[in-house]
Amino acid sequence: MPVDKLPRDLKKAPAIASNLLAWFARAARDLPWRRTRDPYAIWVSEIMLQQTQVKTVIPYWERWMQALPTIEAAAAAPADQIHKLWEGLGYYTRVRNLQKAAQAIVVQHGGRFPEAFDEVLALPGIGRYTAGAICSIAFNQPTPILDGNVIRVLTRLFAIAENPKDKTTNTHLWTLATQLVQQAVASSPRAPSLAPRAQILPPKAQSPEPRASFLNQSLMELGALICTPRQPQCLLCPVQSECAAFRQQRTEELPNLGERATSTARAFMAFVMTSRGEIFIRQRPAGVVNAHLWEFPNVEITGPTPDPSLVFRGLFDVKPPALKPLSIVKHSITRYRITLTAYQATLSRRPSNLPGKWVKLDRLQELAFTAAHKRLATAAVKSILSGR
Ligand code: SF4
Repeated sequence: MPVDKLPRDLKKAPAIASNLLAWFARAARDLPWRRTRDPYAIWVSEIMLQQTQVKTVIPYWERWMQALPTIEAAAAAPADQIHKLWEGLGYYTRVRNLQKAAQAIVVQHGGRFPEAFDEVLALPGIGRYTAGAICSIAFNQPTPILDGNVIRVLTRLFAIAENPKDKTTNTHLWTLATQLVQQAVASSPRAPSLAPRAQILPPKAQSPEPRASFLNQSLMELGALICTPRQPQCLLCPVQSECAAFRQQRTEELPNLGERATSTARAFMAFVMTSRGEIFIRQRPAGVVNAHLWEFPNVEITGPTPDPSLVFRGLFDVKPPALKPLSIVKHSITRYRITLTAYQATLSRRPSNLPGKWVKLDRLQELAFTAAHKRLATAAVKSILSGR
């Protein structure tokens, strides 16, 4: 759409798009998934990057791509392998959906990643943001993206004071994101090259310049590096002259995310049982948080902390052995602050019919544990090997 026909707050979209593209050409980080336009590799990176920082994701992405380099490999991998490759990233529904989507691509598309936005969006675990990111980065389609980083940038650039979760405001933000990526594609073909440093993309990506890809990545990059949640670096910002929040000195108050949910404390008690050189673990069932991952038997404690011997008897229905304090692990999941208190017990007789299995200590590292129970496993192995 010509600039003079744009609604008032969209009139600066062409200048923003042009400045972002020029900045991205200078400042883009050299990330491993930026060296490829393989939609599978880009998809894996986008799923891993949800809720997780770039520096954490890099080694996970590299391990995953080495172990499962194709869609077919991801579709056929055993559940234990995909969970182990994801161990520590959290939000394990992501990896199960990723595999379901890989299987759907094999069945419905012959193993070839679909290019049509609607077909990408129809895959398990892929929402509007991820479909937009894959279609723009891998196929250079002008599909918009809107995640936390982009919301922050846009609410500041356009001084949008309403809560971005409100339906009308969210729709407006998608419109702005759409306009920006479309402006990038429509910008003058005689502009100087906007390709980032040469090593970022393979040669075939340089012509024609993938401006939809660069624009969306520049929004993500600006939100990650410059327009940060606290103390944005406005003096280094390539779109400062177009930024309404900077002009109005309101950068710290935007975006308006409303009241934060208060966190809730929860306490659990866990038991690490050893017997005849083996350790007892159980697998979390389908349909619960961290499904399929391994853990030590545990129970939530409500009210005053009970005697661990009574808890042990209640869990296993056997006379408790001597229980030694092993470790206290504190961690947070979503809005819960969790304290996990673990005890160690050496059993002379194994309780029968326990749901779980006994494994050798050296098998523990092959299995995927929840983050808190991985710390318990490490503490347990150390304690057992030191003969405590
Ligand atoms: S000027 Fe500041 S607030 Fe505005 S987009 Fe740039 S970094 Fe963000």
